[in-house]
Amino acid sequence: MLPYRNIEEAEEALSRALSFAEKLWFKYSAKKPDHILHYHNIIFLMLFYTLAPLPYVFISLGGFKNMDKYKIQPKVKDSFFNMFKCYKDVMQTFLLVVGPLQVISSSTVQWIGIRTSLPLPHLSQVFVQIVVYFIVEDFSHYWIHRMLHCKWAYEKIHRVHHEYTAPIGLAAPYAHWAEILILGLPSFLGPALVPCHITTYWLWFVLRQLEAIETHSGYSFPWSPTKFIPFYGGAKYHNYHHYVGGRSKSNFASVFTYCDYIYGTHKGYQSHKQVLEKAKL
Ligand SMILES: [Zn+2]
Ligand SMILES: [Zn+2]
Repeated sequence: MLPYRNIEEAEEALSRALSFAEKLWFKYSAKKPDHILHYHNIIFLMLFYTLAPLPYVFISLGGFKNMDKYKIQPKVKDSFFNMFKCYKDVMQTFLLVVGPLQVISSSTVQWIGIRTSLPLPHLSQVFVQIVVYFIVEDFSHYWIHRMLHCKWAYEKIHRVHHEYTAPIGLAAPYAHWAEILILGLPSFLGPALVPCHITTYWLWFVLRQLEAIETHSGYSFPWSPTKFIPFYGGAKYHNYHHYVGGRSKSNFASVFTYCDYIYGTHKGYQSHKQVLEKAKL
């Protein structure tokens, strides 16, 4: 909720005219309580989780035969029933776990400094904050994910996420409810360390989800813009982690590759790639 009765008051307080985006934000948010704006996050998560995997679902069900050559594990066929079950299970977890978490954490999110006020952040600030969030998330996710591969945590929690030895986009958030909570922490850590505007906060969670969907898609497209991101892991990288499953001692990072290289957990994938390259000769 904004502390101004109208746009003129807001412009007077900022000592300048509002930009087009700020006028839109004023119209949308001025009368909405902050906790309602925070709850938008779960709606965006469900909306993007429903829409973003659809092209992969269509390709996988035979919509584009010429795309089959980009499938990382081509022998594995996914049925519509299996995909729908995955979607249903994830939606259930979103509604029963992530939704209540959003409600409970609303005051904490405000307390850490996620603001809804004017002015809106500059695009360069949004870019830098999102980059920081990806780096913080990647590092903390790496260690938590690695711990989830110890015998007890794997059997009790992480095994669910590894049911897909050939992952699909819909299975990106397919996991035990405890894992959703535990691995949700690294996503909150960046905004907690470097607080942002709520629009950046929404954007961060949407981008993180899109990245996870692409990484789990089971397809590696040569034209993907993510191929140009330095140290980006991508679909092949994470696919190997699922392919090996519980025995995996490799590729724990969620976004980039450098943590695995620094801590020596890239070796399994490295030798796997060497075997594949030899087989091609
Ligand atoms: Zn794992
Ligand atoms: Zn995964």
